Amino acid sequence: MIPMVNLRQQYASNKQEIDAAILDALANTQFILGPNVQAFERESTDYLGIEHAVTCASGTDALHLALRAAGIGPGDEVITSPFTFIATAEAIRYVGATPVFVDIDPQTFNIDVDCVERAITPNTRAVMPVHLFGQPVDMTRLMPVCEAHHIEVIEDCAQSFGAHIEGKYTGTFGSFGCFSFYPSKNLNCYGDGGLVITHSEEHAANLRSLRNHGSQAQYQHDRIGYNSRLDELQAVILRINLQHIDDYNSRRRKVANLYNQQLAATDITLPFEDGIGHHVYHQYTLLSSQRDKIITALREAQIGCAIYYPIPLHKQPVFADDCKDVTLPVSERIVQECFSLPMNPELTAEQIDTICQTIKQA
Ligand SMILES: *Cc1c(COP(=O)(O)O)cnc(C)c1O
Repeated sequence: MIPMVNLRQQYASNKQEIDAAILDALANTQFILGPNVQAFERESTDYLGIEHAVTCASGTDALHLALRAAGIGPGDEVITSPFTFIATAEAIRYVGATPVFVDIDPQTFNIDVDCVERAITPNTRAVMPVHLFGQPVDMTRLMPVCEAHHIEVIEDCAQSFGAHIEGKYTGTFGSFGCFSFYPSKNLNCYGDGGLVITHSEEHAANLRSLRNHGSQAQYQHDRIGYNSRLDELQAVILRINLQHIDDYNSRRRKVANLYNQQLAATDITLPFEDGIGHHVYHQYTLLSSQRDKIITALREAQIGCAIYYPIPLHKQPVFADDCKDVTLPVSERIVQECFSLPMNPELTAEQIDTICQTIKQA
């Protein structure tokens, strides 16, 4: 069996360090916003080169809190990609705003900046680019467009911790960068977790209040907030994984290279790197008109594989009514052919051989 992600192996590699740090945190008993949460926030700002990092309970909450802190609400339009996890658009709806889906680039699968520009109306308040599968959106093109129209940029970095454009990390381009530490993400914990980063002191103060019942001083509440704090035990895991993130990301790139070499001689479309940003391969995603045949063969061989994503968001039942007149041909074509192979730092050359042989035989 070859799994998509291999947390068993990740834990085994760091077991002594994790077990000791978890026992310390248990003995310390500061379970809510304790020392590990504070240390992880500090260590994330150091790593990402940004002024403020505010942890929260999940990536979905990170997006929601950022939209609230940006003051986005009913009547506002937020432009985003239809080729992403549902949470990106859910968060827009949580604040009562309207998601506006625009098409993607057929090679990178990231939001198409020309389509963003064409979709801007007087009601557009924000754009939420998703650095999909670990490849940065071309922020050098997107930012000037948004700045010219005074539109906020809220980056969905759930799949791109450590990805950068010439050393500037994803999440540091816009007003907010939102991360998820769901167990399968490239920077992960062992439960739910999230983070919002920002350059603005005012935004950071708002985020800290929103995640903790709208309170800045204890039992004093100036707005309706949430219970959305990162768990202290998850922070322990995150501090350890953060120390390894560069190694994990570079091992992902090595896995991608091995796949590329072995699948080069097939008629499968390999992942495209646009050369603008540094791709961290949260997912290794291919296109093939023979997708179903390949997936069946992989499943029979007990090899993990998945379709990220089978339905573009504008075709999801929950959004279909509002998107009756929306046609996004690139997204609609890509979902018919895309599939993702096992991708994790623990994959061995031998396992990659097995996977590629199975695909070639199919
Ligand atoms: C995982 C993910 C999210 C949501 O993160 P959770 O921590 O699961 O809430 C949001 N956007 C994208 C692109 C994701 O991949």
